[in-house]
Amino acid sequence: MTAKRRLLDDCVHCGFCLPSCPTYQSWGEEMDSPRGRIHLMKAVAEHKEPLTAAAVGHFDRCLGCMACVPACPSGVQYNVLIEETRATIERTYHRPLADRMFRGMIFGLFPYPRRLKLAVLLQLIYQRTGLRWLVHRLGLVRLLPPRVRNLEALMPPVGLRQLTDHLPSHQAAAGTRRARVALLPGCVQRVYFPAVNQATLRVLAAERCEVVIPDELGCCGALSVHAGRADEARGFARAAIAALEGAEADFIVVNAAGCGSSMKEWGHLLADDPDWAGRAAALAAKVRDVTELLAELGPVAPRHPISIKAAYHDACHLAHAQRIRAQPRALLRGIPGLELVELDSDACCGSAGVHNLLEPDSAREIGQRKVDSVLAAAPALLISANPGCTLQIQMLLRERGHDVRTAHPIELLDASIRNVPLA
Ligand code: SF4
Ligand code: SF4
Repeated sequence: MTAKRRLLDDCVHCGFCLPSCPTYQSWGEEMDSPRGRIHLMKAVAEHKEPLTAAAVGHFDRCLGCMACVPACPSGVQYNVLIEETRATIERTYHRPLADRMFRGMIFGLFPYPRRLKLAVLLQLIYQRTGLRWLVHRLGLVRLLPPRVRNLEALMPPVGLRQLTDHLPSHQAAAGTRRARVALLPGCVQRVYFPAVNQATLRVLAAERCEVVIPDELGCCGALSVHAGRADEARGFARAAIAALEGAEADFIVVNAAGCGSSMKEWGHLLADDPDWAGRAAALAAKVRDVTELLAELGPVAPRHPISIKAAYHDACHLAHAQRIRAQPRALLRGIPGLELVELDSDACCGSAGVHNLLEPDSAREIGQRKVDSVLAAAPALLISANPGCTLQIQMLLRERGHDVRTAHPIELLDASIRNVPLA
């Protein structure tokens, strides 16, 4: 029996996972639940069902949010199952031409910061010359294909900072060094949220960590692995591992939830490659979300008050995939004056890697529960530790006529430690 068949057989079809699944909550369809998808995976593996467009649709609509994993009393590794299923789909299923072209554009752009900067330049021209205003005024935006229209709506306002920001390759610890860490600047994070990386550098230094950012460090492969592009993901992972090994760091620090969860699985991703399996597992063991590391080390830099009512959004790839919930909250509660309120929903916002780009309608529908909970909590600030979530929630709030300020937890810590207003 193959390893995948054994994992499939771990599911006893009890259904305890169903209430945790956002797609099942939305549509009440068994085949859009973890149990139904596992049933379908098994039928396909046993050649009882072909990989039809309908079957692929059920797998495509899975957010990969992993809310079903901690909910399962039998320990079913749904994360491994859906990853392998997606890899099988990409290898064997022939998607329609328009779908292939759109995916080609996404995966030819987002994992490459230099290309993303070029896209930012075009976006800057589009937003600043009045072209965007004209496109909306004339209703031309409605003529765009749905996925392109969604991409246009997701785009945050950009400025020159996104084009000119530069990260140093080394930052000394402010005081006696407690750890030497390598920082992954990310792709979307590096280009669209440069302030988050700058804040991360400052906070790590203030907490007496020496930080290195290897010049040759590129994409970690997270977007590709979540979409089943396994060979591409392995290529990115090998290059990132080689770059990070040279940093000789005690920890690899990540400030984007999706990247961190995928890097912690590098050992699994490269398990069948004898040249890289050991190196991948060794590096993966050093990976920490920045909030996880700061909680582990304990605070040394004094905090100053920030008086604001804030709500913390649990990114799925932190809360479900890495089981990191307490650490960011503990760090935020360490800021005097900060009123931290809880959202009544920890469900996915619909972003889920590139899910919101590939399945915009279902992502939009699923994200409404998150927006409802944000509006009910009425925070002055929404805190999110994943750039994809931040963009998705901002878009959905805008579409409902609301504008809630957002920040990464590390930006708050940075402002509190430096005793400056939140930028
Ligand atoms: S995945 Fe787990 S919780 Fe869901 S039906 Fe299977 S055994 Fe039950
Ligand atoms: S990963 Fe998320 S969307 Fe997919 S089956 Fe599990 S809970 Fe449902």
